[in-house]
Amino acid sequence: MIPSIATVCVSGTLREKLEAIAAAGFTAVEIFENDLIAFPGSPTEVKAICADLGLAIVTCQPFRDFEGMPDSRRQRTFDRAERKFDLLQELGCDLLFVCSSTSPEALSGIDRLANDFAELGERAARRGLRVGYEALAWGRHVFDYRDAWEVVRRVGRDNVGIVLDSFHILSRDLSLSTIGTIPRDKIAMVQMADAPRLQMDYLSWSRHWRCLPGQGDLDLSGFMQALVSTGYDGVLSLEIFNDRFRAGSARSVALDGHRSLIWLLDEASRRLGRPVPGTVSMPPPGPVEAVEFIEFAVSEAERPGFAALLRALGFARVGAHRSKDVDLWRQGDTRIVLNSEADGFAHSYQITHGTSVCALALRVPGAQAATKRARAMLDTPYAGAVGPGELDIPGVRGLGGSLLYFIDQASALGGWAQVDFEATGETVTGAGLIGVDHVSQTMQYEEMLTWLLFYSSLFETEKTPTQAVLDPGGVVQSQVIESGLKGAGHEGLRLILNGSQSHRTLSARFVTDFFGSGVQHIAFQTADIAATVKRLVANGVAMLPIPENYYDDLEARSDLSTEEIDAMKALNILYDSDAAGSFRQAYTQTLDGGLFFEIVQRDGYAGYGAPNATIRLAAQARLARPITIPAGLREGDALR
Ligand code: MG
Ligand code: MG
Repeated sequence: MIPSIATVCVSGTLREKLEAIAAAGFTAVEIFENDLIAFPGSPTEVKAICADLGLAIVTCQPFRDFEGMPDSRRQRTFDRAERKFDLLQELGCDLLFVCSSTSPEALSGIDRLANDFAELGERAARRGLRVGYEALAWGRHVFDYRDAWEVVRRVGRDNVGIVLDSFHILSRDLSLSTIGTIPRDKIAMVQMADAPRLQMDYLSWSRHWRCLPGQGDLDLSGFMQALVSTGYDGVLSLEIFNDRFRAGSARSVALDGHRSLIWLLDEASRRLGRPVPGTVSMPPPGPVEAVEFIEFAVSEAERPGFAALLRALGFARVGAHRSKDVDLWRQGDTRIVLNSEADGFAHSYQITHGTSVCALALRVPGAQAATKRARAMLDTPYAGAVGPGELDIPGVRGLGGSLLYFIDQASALGGWAQVDFEATGETVTGAGLIGVDHVSQTMQYEEMLTWLLFYSSLFETEKTPTQAVLDPGGVVQSQVIESGLKGAGHEGLRLILNGSQSHRTLSARFVTDFFGSGVQHIAFQTADIAATVKRLVANGVAMLPIPENYYDDLEARSDLSTEEIDAMKALNILYDSDAAGSFRQAYTQTLDGGLFFEIVQRDGYAGYGAPNATIRLAAQARLARPITIPAGLREGDALR
């Protein structure tokens, strides 16, 4: 199949859109009519721009309200079609894309519609053109692809086919079984879009909420399976109307688009057990077995303070890098690398973001395979400077320019820690932290779908539906991605992506203060949160105070005894439970720069304490530093 994208998917002027689409590696494009109308040049110029960029134009769509017109309007409709044929020929493409009529004047009757398409097909054939018919989910009479197919079947012309659009079919929960009965040469083209499951009218859902394959909840795998069974190997074109994409970067959306199609074809091939035409060959996605280490970029000046915090959290400095200004800290299965090098990647990251997580090292079944898959998925590889005797850890660029390293059992056992670091002899007494529970990344709201696709195309993952969490300054959207949790003998990865459209939420302020997207908090697991928090407090760690009302409410809504609740209150521990078990969590106060730590005790519980998130955000907002007003600022001036 040939990956393609409609210009409506990305932001910018037509030229900007086409450049972004070509830069993302596409070789085919659908021009959306509005983009052409707004273009201050002729269709011939658009054809030339596309040719320069190596883009074949699939169609210029749509052609609306064609079929079923009463006799009084019919001639005029065909005149419109002839003008559209002229345009297609000027653009150098051969497909007239007809979407089903929404006109209140349109009449029904399958024979009437078939007659209209037979005549349209005959007129198109005189010019060597083709016609494709798409059933819109909100079409007046034809809103089911099976009806559109019946029209096309009755027309019986070689140059009249059906357009299959995954959104129109899956949004209406139509059976996919008829797709497999359509001869491949009767499929004029295929459009792909995913969407979250929402209860709203089809038109608004389609116009604002479509998203890339893998970003939503529709059964695209089932759709692809049915499509592949026809033997279809033509154009597979993204048609995404999405407010976030319209506000986002054209280059990034186009790249995400290409990535989503590569992923979709790979996924379809794996399900089928043989490569679907157009599939890029790559290793299968694997689980993330564990977070192997977390690397912090810390300036020389801030290192003593941060090291003191790590020590208070129970970590010990167990290794010193052989050639770099880098330390290895450890507690339980958690390893933290503190990087204070005066140049290189971590240094430039630190200059931009302050003390921050500049890299996550993930343990995977095969580091080379993960790297190959990342390259095939158009991710950006990273190769850092390597000193003598040191391991070259493969990695890719992740969120906000941070790095994602891949480490496998061989390189973990063979010992990046032993090869790169000299033991200090320090022993870990610890505060009971046994491993990383989850990592929370905060980003611009517009970026959330990008990173969801990044992780889910790279690894074997599961995602939960997005949750809205109330912050005193607005709503924060939160999306959980999990990998490798069901594997025996390893921890897996739990990631939380957060983003907010309001400028006043903690998430939004983090992105502003941090000068970008990054890790906002890391949660460590303990088997005994009361003992751990007591130890942290004794070590001088400032914990986030939780209001007394929370515990009164907890008493009313849980089965916990008064003694248990009093013990939690004394230590500012929050509580939640689900059918499988209970969850206890506590937070450190936020460091300069917005980073904080969480301590969790997970007893069979699967979630993240979502009901407590609002309480936590309010507590953090109370402690947040007040905005300092610059001298000379007058009333009415913007503060940020
Ligand atoms: Mg469509
Ligand atoms: Mg958390």
